[in-house]
Parts: sequence; C-alpha cells; structure tokens
Amino acid sequence: LPRLPVFEAIARHDPDSTVVVHSGSGRRFRYGELLADVCKTRNRLYETAGRDDIDGERIAFLVENSYDYVVTLLAILAAKSIAVPLSPAFPAPELQYILNHSEALMLLSSAKFAQKAQEVLRTELDLEPVYLQLSKFQGGAKNEKVTLEKTGPGSAGLMLYTSGTTNRPKGVLLPQSVMTAQARALLQAWEYKASDHLLHVLPLHHIHGTINALFTPLFSGSAIEFLFPFNADAVWKRFAAPFLTPDQTPDPESKSPFGRQEKITFFTVVPTVYSRLLATHKALPPDMQSATRTAISPANLRLAISGSAALPTPIKLAWSDLSGGNVLLERYGMTEVGMALSCGLDVADRVDGSVGWPLPGVEARLVDVDTHHVIEKGHERDPDGRDRVGEIQLRGPTIFTEYWRNPEATAKEFVDSKDGRGQWFKTGDVAVRRPVAGAGRSAAASQKDWTRGDLYFILGRRSADIIKSGGEKVSALEVEREMLALPQVAEVAVLAVPSGKWGQKVGAVVILDRDHLPDGARWTPLDMRRALKGRLANYKIPQVLKVVDHIPRNAMGKINKKQLVKDIFQ
Ligand code: ATP
Ligand code: MG
Repeated sequence: LPRLPVFEAIARHDPDSTVVVHSGSGRRFRYGELLADVCKTRNRLYETAGRDDIDGERIAFLVENSYDYVVTLLAILAAKSIAVPLSPAFPAPELQYILNHSEALMLLSSAKFAQKAQEVLRTELDLEPVYLQLSKFQGGAKNEKVTLEKTGPGSAGLMLYTSGTTNRPKGVLLPQSVMTAQARALLQAWEYKASDHLLHVLPLHHIHGTINALFTPLFSGSAIEFLFPFNADAVWKRFAAPFLTPDQTPDPESKSPFGRQEKITFFTVVPTVYSRLLATHKALPPDMQSATRTAISPANLRLAISGSAALPTPIKLAWSDLSGGNVLLERYGMTEVGMALSCGLDVADRVDGSVGWPLPGVEARLVDVDTHHVIEKGHERDPDGRDRVGEIQLRGPTIFTEYWRNPEATAKEFVDSKDGRGQWFKTGDVAVRRPVAGAGRSAAASQKDWTRGDLYFILGRRSADIIKSGGEKVSALEVEREMLALPQVAEVAVLAVPSGKWGQKVGAVVILDRDHLPDGARWTPLDMRRALKGRLANYKIPQVLKVVDHIPRNAMGKINKKQLVKDIFQ
C-alpha cells in the first residue's frame, strides 16, 4: 500500500483492538485485519479496471454503513483514486447526476445495494462505469502483515457532494492531504483516544459522518460502532446496554453483546438527532430512563458534539439537564472546509450560541458585508457599539482545492490575499465575533491553546438567513433562537418573504408544541408578537406567521429555505 498517513496510523494501532462494530449484531472487526482487507479490495479494483494505474480516477460506491464501507473507502485511496460515496437513499436520478458529473470510472456496490446499482446503470449515463459487486468481509482474519511502500499518495482523495441545501449539490474535491489535515485538526481539538468508542448514526456521504466520525477516529485507534439508519429507540437501547443488569434488559432473549467496557464515549450528530432523542426519552420504561441518563452523563459519554446546523438553545439545555451536566459542544463546518470553528473541551468553553474559535491550523477572518473590509481584532463593533457583521473566510491546509469540473464556481469562491500566503475561501456564512467572560485562554496563551480571544457566533447563510427588511438586517438564526425558547414553538424556520413595501419581510414557519397549548387552541400572529416582545427588537419580530405540521429537511436535518419560501409564501 502507498504510504498514506492514515495507513501508517492504522499499522501502529494494537492489532487486537476493535476498529468497527456493527450495532445490533455486535459483530466486530479489528485494526489488525483492516489493512489486509484494504489491500485485497484494492487489488480487485485493479483487476476490474484491467490496469493498475487508476490514479485520480473517480470510483463511486454504494455500501451500507459497515466495516465493508471503511474497507472500500480506504481501498480506493490505496489505489490513488478518488472515492465518491453515494447515498443509498438517493433516488436513481440523483445517483445518475453524480455518476455523470464525477465521470466515474467504476461503480461499486455491496450485495445489499446491487439492485439499486443496476437501476442506476439502466439510466442514460454519459460514460458507462464498470460495475463491481463487492463481496462481504466476514472478519476474524489473521493479522497479516501489510507493507507500506515508499510510493506517495498520487491523486488519492475524496469527493463529497454538498448537501444541496441552497442549490444542486456541488462536487467538492478533498485530496487525501486535505482529509489528513482535517483529521489532525480534530485530533488535537477533541483529543480522540484509542479508548474512545464512537456511536455512528450519520449518513456516510457527508463530511460530518465521513471525516469527523470515521476517518479521524482511524488515526487515534478508536472503535467506530455503526447504527444506521438512525432510530431513537435503538440508540437509547445501545446507550443503556452496558448499564442494565440482565433482568433489566428490554429484550432478554437477545442478550446484549456489549459489556460495561463498551460504553459509548463519543457521539457526534446533528441537532435534529438530539431533538429526536430528547423527544423519545420520556416514553422509555423507568429502568431504561435511568440507565440512559447514566450512560450519557459526563463521566461516561466523554464528548457529545453537535453541528451541521445551528443548535437550538432549548435542546442544549434539555440535554444538559437529562445527562446531569453533559454540555453539548458545538462546532461549525462545511463540505468545502471540513470543520473550521469549534468550542473547546472545557465546559466553560462551550458557550451557548457560539461555535467557538478557529481550529488548530485553520485561519479565519470576518469580512464586513457592507464595507468589504476585513474586521480587524478590536474593531468588532462600530462607533455606535453595534456588532459588525462579516462573512467568514478561511484558509489553511484543511480547505478543499476545487469544485469538480466547475472552475467558474471555484474561482468565484476564492479571493486573493494581500500577504501572498494563499487564497481565502468565502464560506457564504456570516458571523459576529464577541468576547465572552470566562471562556477561552488569555491572549498571551501559547500557540497550542487555540481557544483564545473572541468567539464566533454564526448568524446564518448570507444568501438565505440575512433578511433585509426596510434597511435593517435581521439574522434568521437569531430570531429562530428566540422563538425556540417559547414553550409553544416546537420547530421553526425563519425566512425572507419578498415584500413590495419592505423589500423583504421576516416570516416564520412554525410547528407548535401541543403540550404547551390548551386543546385545540390557535396561536395567532398576535400571540407570537406578544410572546416575542422584549425578547427581540420590533423590526426582528416576524411579520408573517404560518403554522404547519411538517417542515421538510434533508438527510442532515437542514432546511432548504428558498424552496420553503416558494412552497409556503409564493
Ligand atoms: P449546499 O452547499 O449544497 O447548498 P450545504 O451548504 O447545506 O448545501 P454542507 O456543506 O453540508 O452543505 O453544509 C455546510 C453549511 O451548514 C454551512 O455553510 C453552514 O451554513 C451550515 N452549518 C454547519 N454547521 C453549523 C452550525 N454549527 N451552526 C449553523 N450553521 C451551520
Ligand atoms: Mg454550502
């Protein structure tokens, strides 16, 4: 195998320690067998391609969240090719779009998704990829020694498609050096340990599930347990398993395969997952309620992280309450940059509403959305004392290199720097920076302490979350935050509604929490305005309200606001 840092790390881990567990069955795979399996699969790729030079070719794959997924991803990197993970949840036309767009040389699938693969192969494809059905790894292989050659990584990399929240998904190219830099930033910030046991419930075609919850733990020798698709009851059962006595086990027939040493210590998910878990907890039997509380307490669940969308304060507070003070750590990232900003491990550094500081190795700046000047340190407020709002721009080794086959988009999103130290990437997200007493180190702290200085607070997407109403700018995220604090509001999306008079009006689409409203009671715009008075300046209070039963979200729990405005207000 080529000498990639991830392979070197895997080769160093204790061969008998667990790399992957399949939740439910409890079947496990060990670090000692991983590289041999990667090697075998890499060779099958060569055979299938009919050549052993597939450097830089795109290889798309449909494999369930499992040990086989990990092997497939690494085998593609080992072949110096570009891995393009596909979501089995995508309908054929989406898959067709990605196969065409990435010009995939090969399509791989597990037996489980062979039919799905055949379905997409029957569609009109620009380039017919070679198809290979992968065989299943059974585990238990002997620790075979795999040699790491001196050869470099070639064009090995990962191509992820963005969530498509604002537009058609874009292909984001992440060379393995970028993947490795992203992993290293997280290893330093979140201190992944060989003793960590991570519960993985996310899709694997997004950065969060792939880099934070899979690629990075491979560097630390942690165990990754797949439970997918996410199911709140199954997750609660799994959390509880090591803390239940045999007679308390909900389903005594299937004895839990997890001992006390296999408690979950690391959990990284999106806000909607926490919200689903909180909503279902009350319905658990009493034994389970207390076992799960113990399982998610800070003493057992070392780190619970939230990201990919804004974390509503009520969720953060409710989780902290339920777990006896396990404060969720929020971070900010995107497909193009991996993780960029994060709160710190110290509880005092998990500041409500903030996404923290630039991760080690990541350089961040805010560029004023009005004046287009960089907001320098110490100039975060204008002479009237108002926060200066700026677009987050980033640079460093963790940033992607290009949008695949889209040089116009790539050129548009990067700006030259004056200091000649590389271009800045424009995230399209806007934020403010504020000092928070008691959080972070002093400015004089060493370079190693990355939790220094002012904290970043995300206001949302420049394109969809900054509502320009009669000359004022309103952050949709700020309004959502305040609305979610109202007991009557279960879910909310705040949107820019086109208005002849104001340019845009602040609109709110709300799902009500029936537990906090008398039977059959309505919640009127007037009720809303009364409830928000004093919480928000008048111009920020939504002018239009729409109560709905359902707000559509994508696989990462995100709302396409442009679409929602069209569906509801136009
Ligand atoms: P597309 O680019 O296709 O429209 P997308 O931007 O949703 O989709 P991702 O790269 O998965 O695709 O998501 C990144 C975005 O998610 C960020 O630009 C930001 O708007 C949002 N985001 C991520 N983390 C947070 C957070 N902690 N708080 C608020 N927003 C967040
Ligand atoms: Mg995006």
